[in-house]
Amino acid sequence: MEDRTEIESLGEFELIDHLTNNNETSNASTILSIGDDAAVIDHFGRQTVISTDLLLEGIHFDLGYTPLKHLGYKSVVVNLSDIYAMNAVPTQVVLSIGFSNRFSVEALDEFYAGVYAACQEYNVDLVGGDTSTSLRGFVISVTAIGEVAPDTYVKRSGANANDLICVSGELGGAFLGLTLLERENKIFQETGAQPDLEGQAYIVGRLLKPEARRDIIEYFAEAGIKPTSMMDISDGLSSDLLHLCKQSNTGCVLYEEKLPLNEEAREFAYKLQLDPTACALSGGEDYELLFTVAQADFEKIKTNPSLSIIGYMTEPGEGKNIVTRAGNRYALVAQGWNHLTK
Ligand code: ADP
Ligand code: MG
Repeated sequence: MEDRTEIESLGEFELIDHLTNNNETSNASTILSIGDDAAVIDHFGRQTVISTDLLLEGIHFDLGYTPLKHLGYKSVVVNLSDIYAMNAVPTQVVLSIGFSNRFSVEALDEFYAGVYAACQEYNVDLVGGDTSTSLRGFVISVTAIGEVAPDTYVKRSGANANDLICVSGELGGAFLGLTLLERENKIFQETGAQPDLEGQAYIVGRLLKPEARRDIIEYFAEAGIKPTSMMDISDGLSSDLLHLCKQSNTGCVLYEEKLPLNEEAREFAYKLQLDPTACALSGGEDYELLFTVAQADFEKIKTNPSLSIIGYMTEPGEGKNIVTRAGNRYALVAQGWNHLTK
């Protein structure tokens, strides 16, 4: 048996101290961190970007197959992804938790180990939060704060007809990882059989340990690219691209053959008799960046191996379309990723 320390044995203030006493800050913008009524941040003339997420057990994550350390890491990373999607640099996070008496101090330590790992990896400071018990379930709220040079943030609404549609990384992996883990978890619940994740490290990692695309934002700065519109892909490419089109008042043409798919993910999709293209279009939680650039930036995009050009924006009257490998044109629909699971 592992040691289990009841949270009541500490009390709220001791618990907060326990969870945060090794917290260090490293950003000059962090003027005052944990320990007072509020944190103080000075972005020295740069603009402040803020985004928040609420994560609920049973809705957004399943502790049946999500290690707490990964959950802590992911809770921070998905918020940072939103800041990068504004073409900004995250600098601080505040993180609040609610937990039932099912949780021990050791369990929260695991969760915070992941939180601190993400903060260190992305050079953001944890500067506050709130701590409460809940009647049931684990509740996490994360707010990320970032900075951007005045008026260099990128909105969803700036795309123009003929802009290139680009995406970072590879798509569909997280959805396939989720499908695999849900399947194995169900088998475990029914038969007690240990999960068979052999050879599936890529897709499982895409779901449990996503990374935010800081490298792409840094590349934009280096290469002198300012996307005309951008967002991160959390719901699935087709759904999120339709958001860009709607907010920019454009149509689009997407090419199936240009969609970036990982080989391991593609093979696993075939094994499950799923269409890999559908997984790339409708699978969520990849946290890649979807953005548009003017045609003049073509060469700069092409030279970065992490970026794919997958289509172009059109006048709104031309509709939102996908051209298949066989050359057929269909209307792009937002199915989200729930329809894939059934
Ligand atoms: P208040 O009563 O004003 O809400 P708290 O006692 O909850 O104050 O918090 C004291 C300090 O600890 C504050 O700086 C707060 O931001 C920080 N804090 C509380 N809970 C957490 C947490 N889970 N993670 C990080 N910081 C926290
Ligand atoms: Mg409080």
